[in-house]
Amino acid sequence: MAQQEDVFKKIVAHCKEYGFVFPSSEIYDGLGAVYDYGQNGIELKNNIKRYWWDAMVKLNENIVGIDSSIFMHPTIWKASGHVDAFNDPLIDNKDSKKRYRADVLIEEQIAKYDEKIEKEVAKAAKKFGDAFDKEKFLATSVHCQEHQAKRDALHARYAKAMNDNNLEELRQIIIDEEIACPISGTKNWTDVRQFNLMFSTEMGSTADGSMKIFLRPETAQGIFVNFLNVQKTGRMKIPFGIAQIGKAFRNEIVARQFIFRMREFEQMEMQFFVRPGEELKWFEHWKKVRLNWHKALGMGDENYRYHDHDKLAHYANAATDIEFRMPFGFKEVEGIHSRTNFDLSQHQKYSGKKIQYFDPELNENYVPYVIETSIGVDRMFLSIMCGAYTEEVVGENDTRVVLKLPAVLAPVKAAIMPLVKKDGLPEKAREIINTLKYDFNVQYDEKDSIGKRYRRQDAIGTPFCITVDHQTLEDGTVTIRERDTMEQERVPASELRNIIGAKTSFTELFKKLS
Ligand code: ATP
Repeated sequence: MAQQEDVFKKIVAHCKEYGFVFPSSEIYDGLGAVYDYGQNGIELKNNIKRYWWDAMVKLNENIVGIDSSIFMHPTIWKASGHVDAFNDPLIDNKDSKKRYRADVLIEEQIAKYDEKIEKEVAKAAKKFGDAFDKEKFLATSVHCQEHQAKRDALHARYAKAMNDNNLEELRQIIIDEEIACPISGTKNWTDVRQFNLMFSTEMGSTADGSMKIFLRPETAQGIFVNFLNVQKTGRMKIPFGIAQIGKAFRNEIVARQFIFRMREFEQMEMQFFVRPGEELKWFEHWKKVRLNWHKALGMGDENYRYHDHDKLAHYANAATDIEFRMPFGFKEVEGIHSRTNFDLSQHQKYSGKKIQYFDPELNENYVPYVIETSIGVDRMFLSIMCGAYTEEVVGENDTRVVLKLPAVLAPVKAAIMPLVKKDGLPEKAREIINTLKYDFNVQYDEKDSIGKRYRRQDAIGTPFCITVDHQTLEDGTVTIRERDTMEQERVPASELRNIIGAKTSFTELFKKLS
């Protein structure tokens, strides 16, 4: 575990050193859980957004996009339930004065039992070799069964406490499980309290009478309140979806996990409107489609899993997360929720406007049901970074750090390098750049040895390095080096567009989805 924490620290440091992610307001010592994206980070982020947007809006005839405002009428948040129920249970350690989410402390404890079981299994697998039968081992190992029983009991107790909103019981679980503060090491806990996560501000001058408004904690409500606008102007027929990418704000209690949990972040959400009664079928559909979208990036299928929710949000009748294996365990990257007709019904009630759909096939009006897919851009970014970060031994006494990013998402697709800064090689390199820059984000690099330049590009995940040398001037060929294999090949410069295009094309990725 300590080793994994080291890896995570290295990833955070790498993000800063190579222009991916900087702490916000750094020269003023930063601002808790707020981050800025640098020159490479923004490229990666934009590519992630493009992958999501096109997969939704371009590949599905019945999904369209919108961009709604961050500020919205305050009654929206009353109607959606966020004013009354968008809370997290918090608990403080009296010695370290550190604040935690009570639910997260307990979930981590559950994960510890899972880890214990995994360890037993790994130990036995090593001992028995090929003859190892995991199912049989789990069914017969006394240790595993003890851990499993404790885990299941804790899980049941926790789920009940969360569903009953029983804050005293949450605290009692923390006491009974002897959960200690990782900073002070003590079990000296305060009571558990609810904490509303919405930021608020004032709109209008006080002289005119100002209004308290909220910074949206999710982009979804902007979609719901535009349901009729889009349905009518787009002549959309159910089932159909509305997609949106935009900022969301949550005053998170704990802000210690880099861009995993931010106070200002970005969401990519799609609300899919369906007939009442068909929602669970569509829920299953979107679960599969979304997992495929993640897996198509080739970061390793074993690094993803579903995790069903123990506590359903006030609006949901089914919910699951897609989790990715981060260095600090499997963590939620995306949520898929069956939100029933809760939101549209609430807006109908609070606004007094009829929000319904006339279904010509059924010849009836109804408030549509909704399946939501909701993914954080920043969490997706972090999962990609964690999956891509690799330290490799190359040759004797030499190592390299390489970001094995999916080529299609890489910030820079190719670096063009003149072997030396003279003899017309820089000019030739610029000429080649001019043939590539309309299609790809390419970089010119002439400083330091070729080896150092390769390492620099490896560190930002550039799939191709192209070297222009004296032979290029004679026969128009260049060497192209591939990031992961480090193999080099001599090819005509006129072929570069095809070679780079084949590896970095969104088209090929999209074909995998359909
Ligand atoms: P968590 O349980 O981790 O707080 P959540 O279940 O509240 O997350 P949702 O409300 O389902 O999250 O939000 C959908 C997605 O938005 C999440 O899967 C995550 O990718 C992203 N997200 C939510 N909160 C944050 C945050 N504070 N920082 C970055 N991304 C976030």
